[in-house]
Amino acid sequence: MDYFEPKSIGDALSLLAKHGAAAKLIAGGTDVMVDMKFKEEPGCLVNIKKIPGLGGIRENGAGLRIGALTTIREIEANALVREKLPVLWEASHQFASLQVRDMATIGGNICRASPSGETLTPLLVLEAKGILAFAEGEKTEPFASFFQGPGKSAVGSNGLLTAIEIPYPAPGSKSVYLKHAVRGAMDIAMVGVAVLITPDAAKNSLQDVRIGLGAVAPTPLRAPKTEALLRGKPLTAALVKEAGALAAAESKPISDQRSSAEYRRWIVEALTRRGLEQTWKAATGKEVA
Ligand SMILES: Cc1cc2nc3c(=O)[nH]c(=O)nc-3n(C[C@H](O)[C@H](O)[C@H](O)COP(=O)(O)OP(=O)(O)OC[C@H]3O[C@@H](n4cnc5c(N)ncnc54)[C@H](O)[C@@H]3O)c2cc1C
Repeated sequence: MDYFEPKSIGDALSLLAKHGAAAKLIAGGTDVMVDMKFKEEPGCLVNIKKIPGLGGIRENGAGLRIGALTTIREIEANALVREKLPVLWEASHQFASLQVRDMATIGGNICRASPSGETLTPLLVLEAKGILAFAEGEKTEPFASFFQGPGKSAVGSNGLLTAIEIPYPAPGSKSVYLKHAVRGAMDIAMVGVAVLITPDAAKNSLQDVRIGLGAVAPTPLRAPKTEALLRGKPLTAALVKEAGALAAAESKPISDQRSSAEYRRWIVEALTRRGLEQTWKAATGKEVA
């Protein structure tokens, strides 16, 4: 196996172009190394960790720009993320163990494109975008259209994700990330649900609602019918119940070694209801009536 440590994005892209399907990028390696042990070794490993400028978290206008090599632990430890993007902070906090969080990068989590990737539903409800580098130039891709199937994304086999741009939610918004897994730690999500709501100025109704569902379809997805049902209305107990059932109907889970499809739908319903109740209370100070 060939091994390279390019020092620039251009050099990394040239290596991908030269070695084609045999080449594999590696960042933190927490997915790649496991695949190498249990599946197969690539013909050529391109380690991007030594490329300068791909890390760090900084404010960029009314939002944050997070470099692709930023580790999950750096995101978890960042005060701006915790204050401004709590839904991403919660996902980072519930991610694997401290040791894995110290190695794993957000870019790797995104480009792995696993339906259960912890940071993906928060990025969907935050309406974030990825900055992709290709030999032909740079491209900005909203995460709404980035994921194409398990392991497949707009980055393809010849691109490199360089950064993530996340706009701050509207003032007064509240959000939550809820993970359901068998074990409390070191377990991949059986279902992950991210909810972000923005109440109207009088705090009487839902001006905006965004719901992200993870591990219940070939890609992480939003629940557009459920969002449309809720938008513009006060949140009542009857509406929460209806929204939970509709979110479950919008999910497309499969049965696998971690859960049956039926159980996953039931968890989507429960977590959607819980997420709506929690965010409504946090945003308006009122219990759902
Ligand atoms: C014990 C254990 C527990 C885990 N628990 C969780 C969990 O709770 N939640 C969760 O979501 N995941 C979990 N994972 C999976 C893994 O840690 C994450 O997906 C992690 O974010 C991957 O990041 P990485 O930097 O290690 O990626 P790598 O393994 O280096 O790469 C992952 C994939 O992304 C590609 N890639 C990496 N960076 C880029 C880039 N900048 N541009 C283009 N392609 C790129 C690589 O080619 C590869 O295909 C766990 C893994 C282990 C081993």
